[in-house]
Amino acid sequence: MGILSGKTALVFGVSTDYSIGWGISRALAREGATLGFGYAEPVERYAKPLAASVGSTFVEPCDVSKDDEIAAIMEKAGAHFGEIDILVHSIAFAKREELSDAPYYLTSREGFHIAMDISTYSFTALARAALPIMRPGGSMLTMTYLGSERVVAHYNVMGLAKAALEASVRYLAYDLGTHEKHIRVNAVSAGPIRTLAARGGISGFSQMHAEFKEIAPLRRNVTIDDVGNAAVYLCSDLAAGVTGEIHYVDAGFNIVGVAAGEST
Ligand code: NAD
Repeated sequence: MGILSGKTALVFGVSTDYSIGWGISRALAREGATLGFGYAEPVERYAKPLAASVGSTFVEPCDVSKDDEIAAIMEKAGAHFGEIDILVHSIAFAKREELSDAPYYLTSREGFHIAMDISTYSFTALARAALPIMRPGGSMLTMTYLGSERVVAHYNVMGLAKAALEASVRYLAYDLGTHEKHIRVNAVSAGPIRTLAARGGISGFSQMHAEFKEIAPLRRNVTIDDVGNAAVYLCSDLAAGVTGEIHYVDAGFNIVGVAAGEST
């Protein structure tokens, strides 16, 4: 018996076995949750076998920039599961040129809209669409990064998208907490992890990832399993009194002002 036995989770944002969404899914499944998945069409051939490996029989396409696809997957999830307990949003996207060596002030209007739509608004859209099928006392979770509150070179427009995402966590936590279903809404702020989106999308990511462990108090990088285990807590009844939180899983990196060198 895991601590999520009897609970059902719908996860968005699994594309490879490096995905943070996959680390979360694996941990939720280990703790006994039944899983369903929404995937972006281009990653179908990766998402389906991963879903099957945790015994999932609900794997449906959903481009989160399209309201009709969001409505369709929630309707199917309602028919398949009845109600769900957990919604996981592990999705972000910005045009590559917006995360390059170019400075933030060159962000295009279109690039700004795309980043905000897919990385920020989609969580609100999924939360609203999922609400009718959420079981009372359920939990929603999204993924954020320190670039929301500090400047991280090259993170650019995604920093703004994450700042707005974190604000939306608080507003959603208020709205859905006071709703008769008393749904909790939280975010995990993860340290840098070598996923497809991070390595391929963010200029200078590999160097930043390598230097991270020289500053983080735990002197290591974090893994998708670290994030998955924190997600288990936040999505379980152990966190029944926790909502609207940005929970760091970053080996303590965010608390450091000035780090001592390795020689001290
Ligand atoms: P990933 O590439 O594995 O996951 C991103 C997911 O977003 C993919 O599954 C992709 O298919 C999905 N996606 C993109 N556009 C979509 C759309 N229109 N509709 C549906 N799905 C769409 O990368 P990841 O690093 O696991 O990212 C997951 C989340 O974690 C993101 O919110 C990211 O910002 C956040 N995060 C990542 C890091 C890191 O260093 N990797 C650190 C902190 C937070």
